[in-house]
Amino acid sequence: MTQSLKFEYVLCGNEIRHHQAIEFDADGRIIKIIPTEANQCKKGLAVPGMPNAHSHTFQRALTGFGENQSQTNKDDSFWSWRENMYALANQLNAEQLYNIARQAFMEMLQAGYTSVAEFHYLHHDQEGRATFAMADAVMLAARDTGIRLRILPVLYMRGGFSIPAQPEHFRFVTASLSQYCKLLEHCRKHTATGIAPHSLRAVPIEHFPKLVKYAGAILGKKFPIHIHIAEQKQEVQDCLAAHQKSPVQLLADTMALTSQWNLVHSTHINGREMDLLARSNAQVILTPFTEAYLGDGVFPASQFVKAGGRYAIGSDSNTRIDVLGELRLLEYAQRLISRKRSRLANTQGLGQNMWTMAAKTGAKAVQFTVGEIQIGHHADLVVLDTARAPLNGLPVDKLLDAAVIGGARDLIKEVYVGGEQVIFDNAHRYSEEVSLSFAETMQSLKMP
Ligand SMILES: [Zn+2]
Repeated sequence: MTQSLKFEYVLCGNEIRHHQAIEFDADGRIIKIIPTEANQCKKGLAVPGMPNAHSHTFQRALTGFGENQSQTNKDDSFWSWRENMYALANQLNAEQLYNIARQAFMEMLQAGYTSVAEFHYLHHDQEGRATFAMADAVMLAARDTGIRLRILPVLYMRGGFSIPAQPEHFRFVTASLSQYCKLLEHCRKHTATGIAPHSLRAVPIEHFPKLVKYAGAILGKKFPIHIHIAEQKQEVQDCLAAHQKSPVQLLADTMALTSQWNLVHSTHINGREMDLLARSNAQVILTPFTEAYLGDGVFPASQFVKAGGRYAIGSDSNTRIDVLGELRLLEYAQRLISRKRSRLANTQGLGQNMWTMAAKTGAKAVQFTVGEIQIGHHADLVVLDTARAPLNGLPVDKLLDAAVIGGARDLIKEVYVGGEQVIFDNAHRYSEEVSLSFAETMQSLKMP
């Protein structure tokens, strides 16, 4: 049966059309976009739902922890944050993970994300035994909140370049590729699946060709591969010491960087690596809030886009889940380091250019037919409230600029995944129950 949604404004490709009916089939795929009567339309601006190209849902429980200066280490950094993250990761059971994941997925929908690539590495139980219960908790949480999930079981084999796995890694480490493949087979039966070698420090480079081949035998020809890369200067130095090459160069020399590849962060790259990435078909995934939260550094996004590169965005640590905030920080960091404005804008403006870039590139990263409102795509839609500040009273071509510069999560009035409404007046239908069980879980945790 055909259904339709009618909106005052719809972002189709690079133009905002007035008074449009979006018709979709029983599978939630768009079959027609046609003009309609103004009086039949819902108020607001419908834009493509944003794919969240990088998330670790369980880290949502870290918000508020680890912010006091440490007694022993005055230079708090990514590496000290990791200790806090391990403390959380090593105590969670499947039920707690489900409750945290549900809260994070609900907030993603409220923020305008309609699909998510979940970089899932909390594999084993609290005794370190292999189980599918943790992956099941994430998949169930996605189903129960209504977000479109691409699960990426993570392969984590060692503690660092030439450092074996440490005791605190006991829930992540997969002893062999065959054990990892069992998890892939399990996930594939339940949801869309891809793979994620954690990083070059956690997976020896010589394993990559075999890993991709084995995964192909289970997932078929088309599946995304995600990897953390060049996030930390230390990691770049360690990679140079071990391989005499920097991480992006090492990966590109080993594997063809096709559109199957998704490089998360890529913060510390040299000019040659930037050209290499911009010319490749791989996606670069930026997570501005998390990169700032961890003090990682700033990716040269403005030069990268000028060189023809494309970026997706992700909520990563989920300490703040906010599409508009991520886009704003991405632009602002470029302004701060260059002391110039309009870094990621085009001549038409900033907001529409950033939203369409991140949505289209993100669609490749999650590998779903989403990211644009067009025929054949899933009807994953986000409706911005044009009656609310800072959008109220603005000309239509300024709406997305105002949203990125001055807007927050409360602008997201309605959200649809495959044509089904999941957010009503910025609230999820199960918000009370989800927040309550999240709060109970938080109270049951023993955090340092
Ligand atoms: Zn990450």
